[in-house]
Amino acid sequence: MSGLQPVRGTRDILPEERRAHRHIEETARQAAERFGYDEVATPIFEFSDVFRRTLGDTSDIVTKEMYTFTDKGGDEITLRPEGTAGVARMLIAGGLAQNLPLKYFYRGPMFRYERPQKGRFRQFHQIGVELLGVGEPLGDVEVIALGAALLEAIGVADETTLELNTLGNSASRAAYRDVLVAYLSDHRAGLSSDSQDRLERNPLRILDSKNEGDRRIVAGAPDFAGSLDAESADFFAAVREGLETLGIAYTLNSRLVRGLDYYCHTAFEFTTQALGAQGTVLAGGRYDGLVGQMGGQETPGVGWAAGVERLALLAGGGPPAPRPVAVIPVSRELEARAMTLAHALRRDGYVVELAFRGNMSRRLKRANKLNASVAVILGPDEAARGAATIRDLDGGDQSEVLFETLSETLAAYR
Ligand code: ATP
Ligand code: MG
Repeated sequence: MSGLQPVRGTRDILPEERRAHRHIEETARQAAERFGYDEVATPIFEFSDVFRRTLGDTSDIVTKEMYTFTDKGGDEITLRPEGTAGVARMLIAGGLAQNLPLKYFYRGPMFRYERPQKGRFRQFHQIGVELLGVGEPLGDVEVIALGAALLEAIGVADETTLELNTLGNSASRAAYRDVLVAYLSDHRAGLSSDSQDRLERNPLRILDSKNEGDRRIVAGAPDFAGSLDAESADFFAAVREGLETLGIAYTLNSRLVRGLDYYCHTAFEFTTQALGAQGTVLAGGRYDGLVGQMGGQETPGVGWAAGVERLALLAGGGPPAPRPVAVIPVSRELEARAMTLAHALRRDGYVVELAFRGNMSRRLKRANKLNASVAVILGPDEAARGAATIRDLDGGDQSEVLFETLSETLAAYR
């Protein structure tokens, strides 16, 4: 349906919610900065191949969720469903691999055609980080520590659990794939039709299935641990040791696989019980094969992405809006004067609301409604003396202040 409703799965974000999102994004950016991750921005659309080649033909995103269209020049374009592929593309296109390691933070809208529900939209927002060119397990520890630091800074650390798994190197992964396919083939008839499809194409994904019947079968599946070779086991041990050194608690979840094909070694998710089925707030892992698979030189990488809407739901709102100073002229004649004063105060860094209409009491009411902390009232007698009345709107205290010292006097309300 067209019309004035936003497209299904998209939404208008009004000031209060946008403030909450901005708080999360800014807190994340600052946390990232402390870890040495600099902000980058890649385009929100790319050639479809960027995602197809990196996410793999069997991932849910590529098979079902991409917003793809042909543009007027005949190019096949996709609105980005996630951030990592674009960053990897940027690394290759920009020849940035000369300067490894690179540490990037990004934020912005992502697009996936999925069934909208609480915490799941077709346009949503992510913040994310990527650490490129570090193949050591301490890299994994660093990006997980950064995720934990962010969750702590926005006050949701206590409501989340870090779940951790390893997918091993490619040899281990292939070995596990065989063991898993053998087991699942014996239970083929009981699998959902989606999972029967995946059995040939992307069997690891079945571990992640939300289908009840699949879950029962998966519960009896062999563990990844049995297929890990020594290198993979050592790598995982080092990651765990690093987390323990930092006091970052985690639980092992051998069923945790990331949905995208390029992941190896560490996979992790910070999950919560508080958001129902959409319980994953921050998720990531290691993707050593990605850049090479895209045609760049082999470059190890590890990173995560977090959903801003879900983090905001969990945090339960953002910081309050700043309280303005209300500038109120008592008569029309003083409006120009009020405007000049408001302008000067804004230049000095104050948040100022100028009342546009109504008598004194209506303008004061409006100031209260805006949660102003103080009113600067301009009356004719005071104005003649080059002064205004300031009234504390919480306590009611009132005093006359010369225009020249107004800004200074209001410092307590900044
Ligand atoms: P899910 O299992 O919930 O579908 P995912 O594995 O597809 O998640 P990722 O691709 O890892 O998710 O994206 C990282 C984070 O982005 C998720 O943990 C979640 O917080 C958020 N996210 C993913 N898809 C959506 C969506 N459609 N709407 C809102 N947030 C989303
Ligand atoms: Mg998904």
